[in-house]
Amino acid sequence: MKSQSSKTGHGGSDRAEPVEQMVEKLIESGTDVTTTPVKRSLYQNVVEQFNKAADLLRLEPDIRRILSMTKNEIVVNFPVRLDNGGVKMFTGYRVQHNDALGPYKGGLRYHPGVDQDEVRALASWMTWKCALLGLPFGGAKGGVQMDPGDYSLAELERISRRFVYALGSNVGPEYDIPAPDMNTNAQIMAWFLDTYLSTVPPAERHRHIHVVTGKPIVSGGSAGREKATGQGVVFAIQKWAEDRGVSLDGLTFMVQGFGNVGSWAARLLVELGAKLIAVEDVTGGTRNIEGIDPGALLEWMGMHRGVRKYRGGQFVDHIMFLKTKADIFIPAAMENQITAETAPWLDVRLVVEAANGPTDPAGDAVLAERGIEVIPDILCNAGGVTVSYFEWLQNKRSEFWDLEEVDRKLWRKMSTAYDRVRDTAGEYETDLRTAAYIVAMTRLEKVYKDRGIFP
Ligand code: GLU
Repeated sequence: MKSQSSKTGHGGSDRAEPVEQMVEKLIESGTDVTTTPVKRSLYQNVVEQFNKAADLLRLEPDIRRILSMTKNEIVVNFPVRLDNGGVKMFTGYRVQHNDALGPYKGGLRYHPGVDQDEVRALASWMTWKCALLGLPFGGAKGGVQMDPGDYSLAELERISRRFVYALGSNVGPEYDIPAPDMNTNAQIMAWFLDTYLSTVPPAERHRHIHVVTGKPIVSGGSAGREKATGQGVVFAIQKWAEDRGVSLDGLTFMVQGFGNVGSWAARLLVELGAKLIAVEDVTGGTRNIEGIDPGALLEWMGMHRGVRKYRGGQFVDHIMFLKTKADIFIPAAMENQITAETAPWLDVRLVVEAANGPTDPAGDAVLAERGIEVIPDILCNAGGVTVSYFEWLQNKRSEFWDLEEVDRKLWRKMSTAYDRVRDTAGEYETDLRTAAYIVAMTRLEKVYKDRGIFP
């Protein structure tokens, strides 16, 4: 399979610039930095979180050097014919952060904000997430920079198929296994699978269906994969509540982002007696302190493309939404939502990071100062990749596990990881995020120490 990819190799030269350097350059060029918005590097957030944990753990400098860089960064530019007959070029990314614990694993997202810096950060979080949960995978992430809302279903199919083809042998069932992420779903994974299998000799195809996870069930998907990330979020909240002796019955919560993760977490929490009182998505927010029915909201969204004018609540803007008084805030959308600017507005007890990277380090510091607890992303949203691992195993063994078995196994994995993070936080007298990194890092450190560095 031929690919049009360009690899920059370990620690490629086109690494995104740290934000401080960007600001310095702007100052040198005479630009007024007080009015020029500077996009904060997401990878910088990961590095800061990583360094805090590495300092506390006294991680060996050599291993720190290895883990603070990505292994491979693949960028592909590929043409797709649009419905109007014209051809458009798209840019796709796949960053492979580390594979010391097993094949690279992580989702593919379709979003205008996808770029090398973002994918690099998301790939690193996958390494930490898989190591923390004890999965035999490394970390990767990818995506295409585009707004999927701008394209027809037929165009999305052509974009997806051409992207997989462009990635070529950079992915594979025992090498790098993609999955759904923001704006991608089981249908896109089915196109992914079909395209990949078309490049494999017919007699070998059945041995390759674990090249991607999050597939439709009849195409080799797992029971419970669709709700897995939301289910994991709810399991993490149950563990927190158990620890604090808090009942979920009547607990109020608000959700940012009502896609797969946010809507599943909301439905499952409401089933346990909690009350959903505010929801926000890109179109705006809705609030009702009497409670919002997540099923009815989803139905409304299916017809109206957004929560903005939902009849079962009152419209709230972004600031009003964030200032809602609730027990729990579940950011389940974009990164960098809780910052030094927005963290002071939150009026909650607990932040549950269903999204990847929703809190930046400055926002984290404000939350800590205000005594707001955080269940960190690499722990709380790990349910998705955990059930992806179950799907991968089922495919390899030609098995099919029922939902009860998947949920039971997911609970065990989430519960064990939660206990280890909580105990490590106590041992190191640190927060849950740093503790989660320490647990993950300890596993990777051991692997490098056991195996050494070739040659
Ligand atoms: N995209 C999900 C995540 O960020 C799932 C990845 C996977 O299943 O490989 O964790």
